[in-house]
Amino acid sequence: MLILISDAFDPSLPGLLEKYGEVTDDKNRQADADVVLIRSKTKVTKDYIDAAPNLKLVIRGGVGLDNVDQAFAKEKGIKVYNTADASTIAVAELTFAMMIALPNHICRADSTMHERKWLKKELTRTELMGKTLAILGMGRIGTALAVRARAFGMKVLSYDPYVYFSDFAEIRTSLTEVLNEADYVSLNMPLLPETKGMINKKTLSLFKDGAYLINAGRGKCVIGEDVTEALKSGKLAGFATDVWYSDPPPDDCPLFDAPNCLFAPHIGASTKENMLRIGTMIDGIIGEFVRQK
Ligand code: NAD
Repeated sequence: MLILISDAFDPSLPGLLEKYGEVTDDKNRQADADVVLIRSKTKVTKDYIDAAPNLKLVIRGGVGLDNVDQAFAKEKGIKVYNTADASTIAVAELTFAMMIALPNHICRADSTMHERKWLKKELTRTELMGKTLAILGMGRIGTALAVRARAFGMKVLSYDPYVYFSDFAEIRTSLTEVLNEADYVSLNMPLLPETKGMINKKTLSLFKDGAYLINAGRGKCVIGEDVTEALKSGKLAGFATDVWYSDPPPDDCPLFDAPNCLFAPHIGASTKENMLRIGTMIDGIIGEFVRQK
């Protein structure tokens, strides 16, 4: 069996998987690979699958499967798995870190100090305690975020058309209602036809004036131009994002010209602990696949 490691994983992974056969990171060997391991960089499209006639198993280290043509893989009898549970804490902690950093001007305080500037008067902070957080997408990450927000004394609302109860958030059935009430809005839903461009001019008009928006879900869930305009007009007090239309975004991405932003290069899942958990889960999935053969 040939296992192709196509994207970046923990360096311990090849050693963990050697017991199943040959392990390579040589992408030229795609045509011979039985198993392909990907994160978000490799796109397992129809063309990719056609060029890998031996392929039987694709494992995405992480959650989102929007870089895999799942329908075509199914047609070809290729099994597709993700390691969904592994990344929950890593992404929830990054989302929370951004939610703390934005209203506390952590990045600006640091960068201006490095420029020998003393902005003590300008950098007035606001607290999370007593504020309302709206989580769009109350799945694994949304729930872990809610737990952390409650520990900080926030009121937590959620909009998720498929979730009716949570121990950690008040579930509301109206998106308008949660956007009207929230001081912070966090996007933790997947990229689906109905979530693509969900944060746009119209939905942004429903936000409280001066709300903060955090996106560690998927870049295409927001219309960048509309968010930029909301930041420039002051409708949004700040925007933090880990996810983009494309990885990396083009130099002319409108958000680069917007004020009060905090950017990360899609590092939500990139904790040491998560990469080890992903390795363990991949080992388990391949082990099960081999047993069932
Ligand atoms: P999950 O499947 O457990 O939760 C997603 C939730 O979104 C579900 O409860 C679902 O019902 C809900 N949802 C679906 N359609 C919705 C809609 N129209 N409006 C509101 N909610 C809707 O997934 P998860 O593990 O919590 O991950 C959530 C997302 O985070 C992933 O799909 C992925 O896009 C993203 N993610 C990002 C990173 C990163 O590096 N930043 C890493 C992992 C996952």
